[in-house]
Amino acid sequence: MNSFEDYSLIEQMVSMLNSEETSLKDGNSSAAVQIKDFIDKLPGGFLIYNADGAEDIIYANQALIKMFRCDNMNEFRKHTGNSFRGIVYREDLDAVEKSIKEQIAASHDDLDYVEYRIKGKDGIIRWVEDYGHYVRTHTMGNIFYVFISDATEKITKRNKELLKQKALLETALNVSKQAYIAKNSFLSNMSHDLRTPLNALFGYIELAKKNVTDVQTVEKYLDKMNYAGKQLLDLVDKVLEVSYMESKEFQINEALCNLNDVTKEVYDEVLPSAADKQIDVALEYRDVVHSEVYTDKDKLRQILSHIASNAVKYTGNGGKIRLTMEERYSASSEFATFRFVMTDTGIGIAKDSLEKIFEPFEREYNSTQSGIFGSGLGLTIAKHIIETMGGTITAESEVGKGSAFTVTLSFRLSEKAETASDDEKVLNHLKGKKILLVEDNEINLEVETDILEDLGLIIDPAENGRIAVDKIKNSAPNEYLFVLMDIQMPVMDGRQATEEIRKLKDPALAGIPIFALSANALESDKQLSVKTGMDAHLTKPIDIPLLIKTVAKTLKL
Ligand code: ADP
Repeated sequence: MNSFEDYSLIEQMVSMLNSEETSLKDGNSSAAVQIKDFIDKLPGGFLIYNADGAEDIIYANQALIKMFRCDNMNEFRKHTGNSFRGIVYREDLDAVEKSIKEQIAASHDDLDYVEYRIKGKDGIIRWVEDYGHYVRTHTMGNIFYVFISDATEKITKRNKELLKQKALLETALNVSKQAYIAKNSFLSNMSHDLRTPLNALFGYIELAKKNVTDVQTVEKYLDKMNYAGKQLLDLVDKVLEVSYMESKEFQINEALCNLNDVTKEVYDEVLPSAADKQIDVALEYRDVVHSEVYTDKDKLRQILSHIASNAVKYTGNGGKIRLTMEERYSASSEFATFRFVMTDTGIGIAKDSLEKIFEPFEREYNSTQSGIFGSGLGLTIAKHIIETMGGTITAESEVGKGSAFTVTLSFRLSEKAETASDDEKVLNHLKGKKILLVEDNEINLEVETDILEDLGLIIDPAENGRIAVDKIKNSAPNEYLFVLMDIQMPVMDGRQATEEIRKLKDPALAGIPIFALSANALESDKQLSVKTGMDAHLTKPIDIPLLIKTVAKTLKL
């Protein structure tokens, strides 16, 4: 707390700043005039005002006047109503006055710091920082002298940051609230799902006791008890799987495995429950060339079996389910990409629920509503494993029509698979693939198309090199498996076209395999083709075994 005596100097300074006599204009160069001039020209704002009553302004320096976009002191006094209250933006005034009062009361040195907005004569609102000192004087009563600086940039940036953090906190809070709600509904579901089979167990035990002499009836009850016990076990297993999945011990253990075997095991596993509901189950392989791969067999089976058992569970009597394993074209010779698609003709999933079914404990209907036993954990477990294995899972569905779950995974190939390139496997790979056949001669085009279509290829013709370049340029990556390129053609020949394709910006398009298919059979012709960027030179008429061998070698099948 300051005493009166300490501030006689301040009194002198205030009266000096307030006095008309201390002006340089008069040619007055006394120390007082020089001090006033110094304060007037300080680079930051400086203000003195009466702390009592109307908080009248005693003095403001040039920097502060400019901060308010005023030209002189008179204008500044008019703009602010000559009061500190007119300096602070109206909406901030109450909070500022309250804060100053509290800080002065709590401060040993009567100091305070506040931030507030000001509104300049130009109507623009700016942020300022205000360092104030409360002084008690003999002659002037209580006054504040204050340093004010423009902090618009700093405070706006900080406020933006605060808003961002607030939004993040709100999101985190929402997420944890949702998790809390989901966990609660999981517990109440769990309790229901545990009780349902337990009630059945106890009920059938009682019934069996009563009919203990009737062996046939007891056997029926034992079957039902067995079913209820399995439901219980399934629920306990899934809860354990989730907690294992979230633990550090969870890892993928790769070993050589046969994908045909895994899918067949899943098929065999769902067959009995599907048969109970007369559901038709199909297992289909498409373009499978590499069935021997490195993967975690148990985890892959676990994924597929979750999805397949859901398909049975959510499909009514007499429906159809199908598991398709399809090998996709892979640019790498070391990996193979597979798509496992599980389709059913079941109850389907509404659009809103489709977005949530992979989240823990989420079920479209609980067991009471649907009469279908479940925990809402199967897909969460499956998705977690798939993502840990570097893959993806998606779902499409239509209520009342059915659902399709697609799992895409890439596997490292076994060395055996890498070298295995017998004709049958290559032919399997070619089936249904599109190629670009560049040929200007109509008869040749017809004959070649016939032969190539026999291999299961889809032929897109181009009658010269120019058209071929345009078609490749506008194609999607991997749309064409390869290009068969005639050499001598009008408009643009095969070599020029190859050079243009190799120059395309998209590396996937520029790198497409191109095989020359030419009547020129000299060794020099072959060398020239390779030199212009073709992968190989084949001669007319097409030699199919050689084509298959060349394709297998180039695509590393
Ligand atoms: P659960 O089946 O034990 O409830 P999941 O995590 O496996 O748990 O599935 C979550 C939810 O997704 C299910 O409750 C169901 O609403 C929906 N669902 C999953 N698979 C299918 C399907 N094939 N057909 C219809 N709904 C499905």
